[in-house]
Amino acid sequence: MDIRFDGRVAIVTGAGAGLGRSHALGLAARGARVVINDLGAATDGEGRSASAASAVVDEIRAGGGEAIAHGADVADEAEIADMVDQTMTQWGRIDILVNNAGILRDKTFAKMTMDDFRKVVDVHLMGTATCTHAVWPIMREQKYGRIVLTSSASGLYGNFGQANYGAAKAAMMGLMNVLHLEGARDDIRVNTLAPTAATRMTESLMPEEALALLQPETITPGLLYLVSEIAPSRTILGAGAGCYALTRVYETEGVLLEGAQNTPEGVAAHIEAIADETGRRELTDAFQQTRKYARKAADARGLT
Ligand code: NAD
Repeated sequence: MDIRFDGRVAIVTGAGAGLGRSHALGLAARGARVVINDLGAATDGEGRSASAASAVVDEIRAGGGEAIAHGADVADEAEIADMVDQTMTQWGRIDILVNNAGILRDKTFAKMTMDDFRKVVDVHLMGTATCTHAVWPIMREQKYGRIVLTSSASGLYGNFGQANYGAAKAAMMGLMNVLHLEGARDDIRVNTLAPTAATRMTESLMPEEALALLQPETITPGLLYLVSEIAPSRTILGAGAGCYALTRVYETEGVLLEGAQNTPEGVAAHIEAIADETGRRELTDAFQQTRKYARKAADARGLT
């Protein structure tokens, strides 16, 4: 079955360059009408320019597709409201939101100012929440929506010098988990992409040979799957150089420590058993954990 987006309207943030540009071109090539959002900022978030977004619009139109540009800052609620209003006036619906805009302000935590921390959280976390909040009522009303949040291996696994970025990117998982639960009844599916790509963000960090393999176009097929009609929900898809993998959070079966055993020393003595992966499970809502612990304690007391 071909994956197509005919009749669908998509917003891609940060679509003037890098991964966002590639995603927008991919959506348009398969029939979507696309809003090219880009502030035109430098990698550290400074500055503003409309030229990157309008160049991508020109590219899509030259290929026979439909696109409009909007220079909203993803972290500015009023500007994002304007972008969503303009999209609704132009095309009357919003089916897909790709939260992709991003910046970096790398420093060790010791040297990082709270301003650098806040700015990165503002663009990645608050920007994603702001854009998603603005399209949410429209998708609920339509009873259809596909949303992707862009995380990073830095957030999922850690990367030296990126406390701000890693914290913001890990927050994508938390936001996705809750929006997946709240969106399900209206067929709003929420997924997370964890890409690794050669863009201006990474060009100084990787050798030439790696950059040549990690072109953004090798990742966009995964993004297109995550926003398609057959999309999963609550999936964290790692993607780069044509490789794909899923990230999942598991909890070990765990151990009940009662009475005199439930001390810091008891926890230390049982840490291997606590960490034992036999019977580990992926929990899909918070109360599964609460119920599991309460059940273990109740079983031990003969209460069930
Ligand atoms: P990029 O710098 O090439 O593109 C980012 C775009 O976002 C730029 O065009 C920029 O103008 C725009 N932007 C920045 N701040 C904005 C704002 N406040 N509002 C609207 N637009 C804004 O970077 P990229 O590598 O293509 O990154 C895209 C996304 O992928 C980011 O969220 C990034 O953190 C994430 N990511 C990238 C990699 C990688 O290897 N390149 C790895 C993990 C995650």
